[in-house]
Amino acid sequence: MFTLIENCRLISPDVEIAEASVLIENDRIIQVAPGKISAPAGCRKIDAAGMTAVPGFIDLHCHGRNSFDFCDGSAEGAKAIAENKLAEGVTTLLPTTLTVSEKDLADSLAAVAAYDQKTGCRIPGVHLEGPFINVKAAGAQNPAFVRLPDAAEVDRLNAVFPVKKITFAIEEAGGIEFVAEMLKRGIVPSCTHSQAKYEIFKAAHDAGLRNLSHFCNQMTPLHHRDIGLVGAGLLHKDVFAELICDKLHISPAMIQLVFSVKGADKVILISDAMRASGMPDGEYDLGGLPVMVADGAARLKEGGALAGSTLQLATALKNICEVTGLPAKELVKATSASAAAAMGWNDRGALMPGYLADIVLLDNDFNVCKTLVGGEVRFEK
Ligand code: FE
Repeated sequence: MFTLIENCRLISPDVEIAEASVLIENDRIIQVAPGKISAPAGCRKIDAAGMTAVPGFIDLHCHGRNSFDFCDGSAEGAKAIAENKLAEGVTTLLPTTLTVSEKDLADSLAAVAAYDQKTGCRIPGVHLEGPFINVKAAGAQNPAFVRLPDAAEVDRLNAVFPVKKITFAIEEAGGIEFVAEMLKRGIVPSCTHSQAKYEIFKAAHDAGLRNLSHFCNQMTPLHHRDIGLVGAGLLHKDVFAELICDKLHISPAMIQLVFSVKGADKVILISDAMRASGMPDGEYDLGGLPVMVADGAARLKEGGALAGSTLQLATALKNICEVTGLPAKELVKATSASAAAAMGWNDRGALMPGYLADIVLLDNDFNVCKTLVGGEVRFEK
């Protein structure tokens, strides 16, 4: 089965073509060229005039969407989130859990496992955010369920559905050993909800830590005598910084600073979306804590801490284009290639022969027109 996308502007890491064609065979891209490609017999054609093709977005941090949260433990909800994420251009997603009981985590993973991957985005595994965090940096995570790093609990959850990434506080007892334990299992360790000093970061970095989840949020800020996790992320070139670019979790000037110091290939845009994403303002909850969403900003009713976001990744890409002024062929790294590199996925994140045909077609205002997963149009506006 061949599919040919024609007449699109194409943007992929370090590549921009004003008018391009993309030939797909089954689920893979087999040719990308300026101008026309002659179509094989029986080829399906997509006329993408006026649209820009970019690599499908990878969202490594998403709790929910369209009223559903993965921690509801509902198979119907997990499927609905996977399908609705296509509307913002996401083709690979790590469902992200909260600091809840082990039973609730296992139920959430079982609900994700029930999704057959046929109608929405790809879900190769989950991201555990917590429960092994610092209670003093819990933010909108429920402190009642915080516990110490425990590889055996991760193993039990991993048996329900693959755990691909875990966010925890490296300064908690056993935290440095936990970095190595996770790497041994092929799970990407990442730190935030943490008050780690720079010295502790260095020990974790020596053990293999290379990721900082929602960089700047709920982590030790930069101080000139202890540069903390924010300073560590800026200083260490091999560390990926994940950013919530809704202009609310971090200011436009901080977005500029992070991109100018690290470059787009070490920045990963995440949504950190909660169930109100794709929904109107109003009252919701996050991990059982009441949340008020006003003008798209989700905050705990008690204390007012930011409680996830309602951000969609196509909007995040638009925001970084406006804020940084960097070329799009740089910035598209932050919506897919950087995440793929951090996760060790070498089959996605670029529009190149041999890569998965996970493609988003955007209009000139970053609205998603079509989303293809493995060459199949799974979303169309
Ligand atoms: Fe968080």
